Amino acid sequence: MNDCIFCKIANGEIPSKFYYEDEKTIIIRDIAPQAKLHYLVIPKEHYTDITELADKNPDLLQHLFTVIAEKKEELGLTNGFRVITNIGEDGCQSVKHIHVHLLGGEKLSEKMG
Ligand code: AMP
Repeated sequence: MNDCIFCKIANGEIPSKFYYEDEKTIIIRDIAPQAKLHYLVIPKEHYTDITELADKNPDLLQHLFTVIAEKKEELGLTNGFRVITNIGEDGCQSVKHIHVHLLGGEKLSEKMG
């Protein structure tokens, strides 16, 4: 996936501050935050969306959520947060490399859609 922006961030081609990194995962801050704290949890390996990831690599999907559970407090998400992953056209997915949004650091809107 040569022109994938999240592949380029994950492999260091595009510099970005990593708030967490392991061999399979990075966490960055969203460039256009929609909450006081807005992170993106991104697997280094390219999958289009969470359904493809669940189908092809369920262990990696589980790993993403294990990382979220283990790192939430270090990320400042101490009082709850929202987990969103957009899929496809109707889901308004703009980057076609699976990523999980973590929104928090403040009381969020009750509306989700
Ligand atoms: P989605 O609409 O769910 O595909 O979300 C893609 C997200 O990636 C958006 O919230 C963008 O603000 C964010 N984004 C795009 N480019 C970058 C970048 N270079 N660094 C950090 N976040 C980015």
